[in-house]
Amino acid sequence: MKAAVLRDGEKTLRVEDVDVDRVGPHELLVQTSAAGLCHSDLNHLHGVFDIPRPSVLGHESAGIVVEVGSEVVDFVAGDHVITCLSTFCGRCERCLSGSSYLCAGSHSVRPPGAGPRLHQSGDEVHQFLNVSSFAERLLVHETAAVRITKDMPLDLAALIGCGVTTGLGAVFHRARVSPGETVAVLGCGGIGLSVVQGARIAGASRIIAVDLQQEKLDAATLVGATDVLRADRCDTAEAIRELTDGGVDHCFEAAGSVATAEAAVESLAVGGTATIVGLIPAGRTFPVQARLLLDDRRVQGAMMGARNFRLAMPKYVDLFLSGRLMLEEMVSSRIGLDSINDGFAAMEAGGSLRDLVVF
Ligand SMILES: [Zn+2]
Ligand SMILES: [Zn+2]
Repeated sequence: MKAAVLRDGEKTLRVEDVDVDRVGPHELLVQTSAAGLCHSDLNHLHGVFDIPRPSVLGHESAGIVVEVGSEVVDFVAGDHVITCLSTFCGRCERCLSGSSYLCAGSHSVRPPGAGPRLHQSGDEVHQFLNVSSFAERLLVHETAAVRITKDMPLDLAALIGCGVTTGLGAVFHRARVSPGETVAVLGCGGIGLSVVQGARIAGASRIIAVDLQQEKLDAATLVGATDVLRADRCDTAEAIRELTDGGVDHCFEAAGSVATAEAAVESLAVGGTATIVGLIPAGRTFPVQARLLLDDRRVQGAMMGARNFRLAMPKYVDLFLSGRLMLEEMVSSRIGLDSINDGFAAMEAGGSLRDLVVF
């Protein structure tokens, strides 16, 4: 099959032939329909995070099950699925306490001696985040997928595989935004636009979207923002406090930077909550005025939508099918696998929303 491979010392992907191993007992072979380009792929491309190479990037995808392993009971060939990096063992403390999106298990990795899932003439090509979406086929552990209704268009379903679920889940399951509350969203890429939509669906009275790019703010308005702020033309926290007479009930950091994380706390009303959703590189810190926390302000994080994706994703599909979740509006372009480097270049330039590789 064709796959986009990241090699040592390189910052672009090469589309190459990669072999897929035989399906293991607890695995699914999926024919990829579409894969979204996520900002964390770009970070890995740039070496912000260290991963073994060569590897096939991509972790936001949907497709059709081609073959199931001998022990798989939850799927059959022909099922439409969304993949997710949050595999879960069902046995560890985190899984059993309802936080399977933080599962500590290593069950989804092949046992030693089993051979790699992806290889080139026997030499391992590493799987990225349990998925490796930028490939014509996905060989994944069965807990890296959820079945969805065949009414759902598979290209748009791919978006639910990471960004949409991360954003909606942060609103619904971590921040728990209530009707009438005020919300600000810092960063309006795929995750930020999903936070805006979550806030709209949850009934927020005011949704202030902040970004450097006008195109992203226009998209935010389209999907539910009531106010927009250009981050390069104002002091973000000050402007949010002014607009809301003292601050918002919820501020979401969706840009993945420590500067926006700091602004998220500074923009809160008394009793407000800042939720960090963007992927900030390990080791980075940001200052917090301790005095602000005394007035019941809180800072928290939210990983992969803060809910088991098998519970969450079918509900998000229903939100789309009932017209409340807007996905087409988040797509900048549909490209072929051969154009994947152009997609990342556009993402780097900052103007694109979500680019989809379609197979
Ligand atoms: Zn992602
Ligand atoms: Zn677990």
